[in-house]
Amino acid sequence: MKKIIIGMLTFALLHGCTSNVKKTADPVKKYPAFDVQNMDTTVKPGDDFYTYTNGAWLKNNPIPADKNSRSSFDELIEKNRHDIREIIEEAAGAKDVQVGSDTAKIGTFYNTGMDTVSIEQQGVSLLKIFFDKIDSIQSIADVQSVGAFFQTYQINPFFFLFSNQDSKNSTSVIAQCYQGGIGLPDRDYYFINDESTKKIREKYLIHLTKMFELLKEEPSLAEKNAKTIMKMETQLAKASFTNIENQDPQKTYNKVTIEGLNKLAPYINWQSYFTKVGYPGLSEVNIYQPSFIKELNSMMKTVPVEDWKTFLRWQLINSTAAYLSKDFVDQNFDFYNKTLSGQEKMEPRWKLILDLTSNSLGESIGRLYVKKYFPPVAKQKMTDLVMNLKKSLKQRIENLTWMGPQTKLEALAKLDKMGVKVGYPDKWRDYSGLAISHQSHVLNVLNSQAFEFRYSMDKVGKPVDPTEWGMTPQTVNAYYNPNRNEIVFPAGILQPPFFNLDADDAINYGAIGMAIGHEMTHGFDNMGRQFDKDGNLRDWWTKEDSKAFDAHAAMLIGQYSKYEVLDSTFVNGKHTLGENIADLGGATVAYNAYKLSLEGHEAIKPIDGFTNFQRFFLSYGQVWKNNMRDEELRKRVKTDEHSPSKVRINGVVYNMPEFYAAFPDIKQGDKLFRTAEQRPVIW
Ligand SMILES: [Zn+2]
Repeated sequence: MKKIIIGMLTFALLHGCTSNVKKTADPVKKYPAFDVQNMDTTVKPGDDFYTYTNGAWLKNNPIPADKNSRSSFDELIEKNRHDIREIIEEAAGAKDVQVGSDTAKIGTFYNTGMDTVSIEQQGVSLLKIFFDKIDSIQSIADVQSVGAFFQTYQINPFFFLFSNQDSKNSTSVIAQCYQGGIGLPDRDYYFINDESTKKIREKYLIHLTKMFELLKEEPSLAEKNAKTIMKMETQLAKASFTNIENQDPQKTYNKVTIEGLNKLAPYINWQSYFTKVGYPGLSEVNIYQPSFIKELNSMMKTVPVEDWKTFLRWQLINSTAAYLSKDFVDQNFDFYNKTLSGQEKMEPRWKLILDLTSNSLGESIGRLYVKKYFPPVAKQKMTDLVMNLKKSLKQRIENLTWMGPQTKLEALAKLDKMGVKVGYPDKWRDYSGLAISHQSHVLNVLNSQAFEFRYSMDKVGKPVDPTEWGMTPQTVNAYYNPNRNEIVFPAGILQPPFFNLDADDAINYGAIGMAIGHEMTHGFDNMGRQFDKDGNLRDWWTKEDSKAFDAHAAMLIGQYSKYEVLDSTFVNGKHTLGENIADLGGATVAYNAYKLSLEGHEAIKPIDGFTNFQRFFLSYGQVWKNNMRDEELRKRVKTDEHSPSKVRINGVVYNMPEFYAAFPDIKQGDKLFRTAEQRPVIW
């Protein structure tokens, strides 16, 4: 299921591919607080702290053939899959379940996805209703009608359509329209002319051709159609915002009425489009990228109807290939996993179907998941930690030397009002409107996508539901939502190595403490700082303070842009700025919180030869251990707003005076040493 997350600032990139570890949930065996065996102490901590912390682990943990990386995240996601498998298999094997109940839906969704015999027999036949729609197209008006029909199943041929809070009036929910239509991971892929990107474009063209051939087209026609798709997508990509433009909340705020839309893009019949997607009453929409909609409009005028039919066929097959017979699944894997990420072979089917079930029936599985695996004591401990982190950031803001008193008042009010969600939602979603049947796997996926589309769009014009979550409880991640001014930590991430009930405080502050600080800092990064305490896009900064913030941020951009992660592939310091600010702020605020928690206590004895302050940094470093394939790394540098793992450690610690205090042997002359003047202080 292709999903995009817009407006949520996450802890790490959400990804489905995980590392191959054995189940570690031996109830007697405790997860080690920190494993010194993972370190490479032949590396000096002042030369490369990441490798000093993780060197032995990196050497001893190669990437399995069916993964594109191996990391702490991957290991925990893999452990979670085994936990979730118990829930799903219980549901899948349950007798006498009530028809239409959540348990029945979980079981049916999973069993139908695992029934490869039926899936092979069906081929693409169950998509007939969609193909018939395309075949019946005779005019541009028909192209738009069929596009709208597809959109209701979240096959998004032209753009994404969903609801979110109005950024300038956060108590109201409006429709949002976001650029789409391209099959490569980012618009830049269509234009960058380095060898690896050129090769990807060549292989994409071959992939397109093969997919059309699988739809029983003659090779020459398939090749012609592939070229048509490439040409149309390149046109759309050209008008698309870059990932840096997409991070600008002012530039992407363009609320228009239907009349405004008709003026912006008169060759699209908007009233008819919204009626066809089931929402005839939509009166206003935020258009994230007006240039994109303008180009789409002019293509409606210039591109022949036959080409649009080809385009819709590609959109349909590209969004469903992973759920069809083996020939489609394999070809889809060959391009999207092998070529783009370097993954050698596919994961076992049960894992893929499990992920899909867990996405499609997210909170229904989440409810069972937290009951079985999330102890109440974890929720309490986490809530206490968050409160300590809040106190710490408050103190940091009060003591900032670059910020004036007026801006500080607003910043403190924002921090004070910042909401916190831990573990799982207080109110669970209702899946009674979701139809799941034994008939067809691909139709179950499409029905689930249609259900999600309506769930999102039904919120337009209704009051904001404060209990709602943007991630499922079983997700190994966390986020800050600027429109709600809240930080959210699903139960899935509240496990070792991020959160370890058996570990000493230094370890937890360095891991989950840093994650909490990271999400809190997102409220004050280059994007988050443009929103106020109520989640409204409003400038609450004095001119001088804005300027001072930008000057420190510019230092960070300069530093990160110098990190070469592969041959002549550098981190994009601008694109990753918000995440890098959150990492630096997160580690700093977590460290300060840890120090505050020690007040009035006796000094803590070293463990394994490391002081508690050293263990804070070692724990932080260990969380980000990661072996990643070059192809995947190249893709991430182009698309992910998070810096690569190694940079998330080395980019941060050498900016922190606390780090030099914890490791007093680090001296000028060490490879990554920075003088006080070279270290930005933001939060
Ligand atoms: Zn983040």
